[in-house]
Amino acid sequence: MNTAVARKRSLPSTAANAGPAATIQVTAPSEIYQVLMDAKRYPSPVRPTGSGSSTTRCITANGGTQLDLSAMNRVLKIDGDTVTVQPGISLPDLAEILSEEGLELIGGFDLANRTVGGAVCAAGLEASMAGDVGQFASHVTQLKVVSPNGKKFVINDKTKNLLALMRLSYGLLGVVYEVRLRVRPVQGFSVQTAKTSFQDFAKLGSKLLGAKAGVKLYLLPFRDRIYFELRRPATESDTGRKFAWRFKDWAVSSALPEAVRSLGIAVPIRQLRYPLIDSLSEVAQRLVNNALVKSGSNSVEQSGRYRLLGSKSRFTYTTWAFPAADFPSVALAYKLFCKEHYLSTGFRCDMPAVGFRLNQDRSALLSPSFDSPMFTLSPLSTQAKGWDDFVLSYADFAAHHRGVPFFNQTRNATPETVTQRYGARLPFFNKVRRQLDPHDRLLNQFFQSYFPAT
Ligand SMILES: Cc1cc2nc3c(=O)[nH]c(=O)nc-3n(C[C@H](O)[C@H](O)[C@H](O)COP(=O)(O)OP(=O)(O)OC[C@H]3O[C@@H](n4cnc5c(N)ncnc54)[C@H](O)[C@@H]3O)c2cc1C
Repeated sequence: MNTAVARKRSLPSTAANAGPAATIQVTAPSEIYQVLMDAKRYPSPVRPTGSGSSTTRCITANGGTQLDLSAMNRVLKIDGDTVTVQPGISLPDLAEILSEEGLELIGGFDLANRTVGGAVCAAGLEASMAGDVGQFASHVTQLKVVSPNGKKFVINDKTKNLLALMRLSYGLLGVVYEVRLRVRPVQGFSVQTAKTSFQDFAKLGSKLLGAKAGVKLYLLPFRDRIYFELRRPATESDTGRKFAWRFKDWAVSSALPEAVRSLGIAVPIRQLRYPLIDSLSEVAQRLVNNALVKSGSNSVEQSGRYRLLGSKSRFTYTTWAFPAADFPSVALAYKLFCKEHYLSTGFRCDMPAVGFRLNQDRSALLSPSFDSPMFTLSPLSTQAKGWDDFVLSYADFAAHHRGVPFFNQTRNATPETVTQRYGARLPFFNKVRRQLDPHDRLLNQFFQSYFPAT
């Protein structure tokens, strides 16, 4: 174990600002045990961390212990239709190792540099096709965990209720030290693109609810344009060109945000700047998303490297999910909200907002799409000035439109809204949490506002 108390690691600002008293990088379950058992040396709260890319304070350990699992990053076993890994391996690294075996991770994710531990213990965004469930975590078949009082336990799909508690448990029920995931042979999908106005999008109604395709959206409220990316299982064995996906990844995740940010500096007059930025975003949509990529597979997409997270990220965002049945009208209301906010404050987001259709998923108690299919809506910005006020207003907007917050990706969700949306699942989760962690070893201030301490 790297025992240097308060060892400095370049953690993203969300974690770093909070100032843990100790940051410990562990390499084995026995070291996790030592940390959890020694509250004097490693004060509470203990917060497990993968790549630390969550956009809320879910990983902050103010005055406590940051438990860095990123060095536990080995693949332990590939066994036909499952892979067993340590939690600190990054998803692109795992995708690349699997692709050498002709295998891929299941689902449709924008993987970024998340770790398996982070993606299993926290909610994600993805555009899954019909038949697939909504969360990466649903593909877990076994977890090995050190509980807050140092006991090791194994849960698997024979104990489905326990697995449902442990998936998306945000490191509140224990520290995951081994994960077994379902994988599959590489499968192709076809990509179809389209665009529409917000008004026409609002007419899609039930078509969106029952969509069979995986749906990803790019919304430009000030151009009155919504671009669609639809994914369907491919009939041919075309699994996509790696180069084209790499180029798309670079253009959308790196070049576009960089160019938008530069324009923000070079063109100070906003009446000139924003039309230029919107034109650039539209060109990117037409050239990169519409023309470049017509087929793909999780395998080629998942090895993307340009989407940097945390402090290295080129943009910031916040996410809410809305019931799919409401989403056409929510999108229209969002367009008006953006225009009104711009008129009254002079701030608007400079990147297209991104949306995913999130399939219904009951495999985790704290799943954001537990009750119905959802659409996520994430406004993105490269500009910091004015962003915090926008996030607050957007939180009000979202709460008003039955938005469901993510504990790891939604800023400024009030405890009232969280309680309303997660309903009886929240006190039930907290009851189990209190039994497993009677001394609140893993509970930080952020989670205390949603899960009252013991
Ligand atoms: C610019 C940017 C873009 C992003 N894009 C996407 C995107 O497209 N899709 C998406 O889904 N997300 C996205 N995210 C959000 C982020 O990647 C997710 O929140 C992700 O789940 C975090 O993974 P991580 O490895 O960084 O986990 P962390 O942030 O380190 O941890 C997440 C949670 O899991 C817990 N945890 C981590 N490891 C363990 C463990 N071994 N045992 C127990 N608990 C653990 C932590 O305590 C925390 O509560 C983005 C973030 C940024 C900053």
